[in-house]
Amino acid sequence: MFLSFEEFHARAEAVRLQIAAACAQAGRGPGEVQLLAVTKTHPAAAAEYAARYGLNAVGENRVQEGVEKRAQCTASIRWELIGHLQSNKAKLAAQHFDRVQSVDSVKLINHLDRGAAEAGKVLPILLQINAGRDPAKFGAEIEEAPALLEAALAKPNLRVDGLMTIAPLTAVPEEMRAAAQRTFAALRELRDELATRFGVPLKELSMGMSGDMADAIAAGSTCVRVGTALFGSR
Ligand SMILES: *Cc1c(COP(=O)(O)O)cnc(C)c1O
Repeated sequence: MFLSFEEFHARAEAVRLQIAAACAQAGRGPGEVQLLAVTKTHPAAAAEYAARYGLNAVGENRVQEGVEKRAQCTASIRWELIGHLQSNKAKLAAQHFDRVQSVDSVKLINHLDRGAAEAGKVLPILLQINAGRDPAKFGAEIEEAPALLEAALAKPNLRVDGLMTIAPLTAVPEEMRAAAQRTFAALRELRDELATRFGVPLKELSMGMSGDMADAIAAGSTCVRVGTALFGSR
């Protein structure tokens, strides 16, 4: 059975405390980090809980699931796509999501721009970078990032907010944390380089999940994507 709102509320308070503590440790204000509630695999009630608690966005990793859930959800909240997106679903994604965080190819940029134009909107996006060089992860290589950014900046119906990454899984569990820290530092460094080179702010650094949000915040995350810590295991 899905958790009660009271249970969710307690979990959300604990997550907020963790974020606030990590921000304080990093000398950052707690308002600098957005909490994106990851509702994938959970019912539409998860998004309603998030809205009722006062969060302003939820994250889904599949287009179809997000579209269906959004249609069932009566609360007003922003929907972000955080999972791998195929070009043939780009039009649907552009139509139904308020932001797409998982943009990792020029082909996808072309399709999303066209889809956003048809939907009559400017679609905010993040470029997903495989900053941890994990062969099992989607995301563009660090070296491809300038070409992706250049392509995206040329699109009238896209707005590039920043970068997104997922920390790699390591064969040895003890190496997970160091690998995550390296990944977050690499994304931050890439953002700083690209921002200077292209003269755009790229304000958003979406990095950190339930298990590694404190390290991500220390490295400059502006958006942590949290599922398990808010809603329990999937
Ligand atoms: C599922 C998912 C998350 C949330 O992971 P948790 O460990 O449950 O917090 C974050 N980001 C992406 C891209 C995801 O697919």
